[in-house]
Amino acid sequence: MTYTGRFAPSPSGPLHAGSLVAALASWLDARAHGGRWLLRIEDVDTPRTMPGAADIIMAQLRALGLYWDGEVIWQSQRGQAYQAAFDALAARGLVYGCGCTRREIADSALRGQAAPGADGERPYPGTCRHGLPPGRQARAWRLVIPDGLERFEDRWLGPQEQDVAQAVGDIALKRADGLWAYQLAVVVDDGFQGVTDVVRGADLLSSTARQRVLGRLLDLPPVRYLHVPLILDPASGLKLSKQNGAPAIDTHAPLASLQAAWHALGFAPLAADGVEAFLGEATARWAARFP
Ligand code: GLU
Repeated sequence: MTYTGRFAPSPSGPLHAGSLVAALASWLDARAHGGRWLLRIEDVDTPRTMPGAADIIMAQLRALGLYWDGEVIWQSQRGQAYQAAFDALAARGLVYGCGCTRREIADSALRGQAAPGADGERPYPGTCRHGLPPGRQARAWRLVIPDGLERFEDRWLGPQEQDVAQAVGDIALKRADGLWAYQLAVVVDDGFQGVTDVVRGADLLSSTARQRVLGRLLDLPPVRYLHVPLILDPASGLKLSKQNGAPAIDTHAPLASLQAAWHALGFAPLAADGVEAFLGEATARWAARFP
């Protein structure tokens, strides 16, 4: 199958040093495999979308020489596809309405046996799985997660496994605020775009097993994964993020920004005098490391 990769930024702000690492790694992996590299704007979470951020991200990518192939896809335009996937799962009896508030879920998870996962996530305890409690209305819609261990090989991190039913529980497909859940949108869109390889930051490693389960339930072909290390803010030790106020990439010094992202990926600096030379050399090095 022809390699198809993608970069899928959420337009909650411009690209920063951390998101550039994910963009560069996925671009390099696609080019190293002679594949396509698609751009998808993940604006499904409208309250978190910053007006104008998607345009800034596209301008930043161009300034860095990270050109994408084909048309850009916007998740805000893809509601019909998410609905169709939701309907297909519902027709198989895999979807149920959930009347729990956030508070109730947190409280019952705390009372329950389940310990929080590595990222502090507490599993949904399944309260509404067998029907809404009397007098309750559905707020969100959840997917019945099958029992069993989900195993996959990460091309950077090696073998991974998660018991999704235990660690995460039944995931929301449609949120209480009426928006489609990121997990549904990303799986449907990767399938629609024919993505074969996902290269992204390790903050999404914990979402991967549930995305694989969901993809299988939607009869989508399996995807390969490579999760790259996160850049931490030296002062706070927290992940660099828009929420933590990470500064936008300086596109006036594109080569320096690329070299910094390359260094964060664990490679030695490249003797390149421009963006094009840098990307050519980096692609060759990447191909040798991740054949
Ligand atoms: N939109 C997600 C983010 O910006 C990335 C999703 C993905 O790569 O699967 O964090």
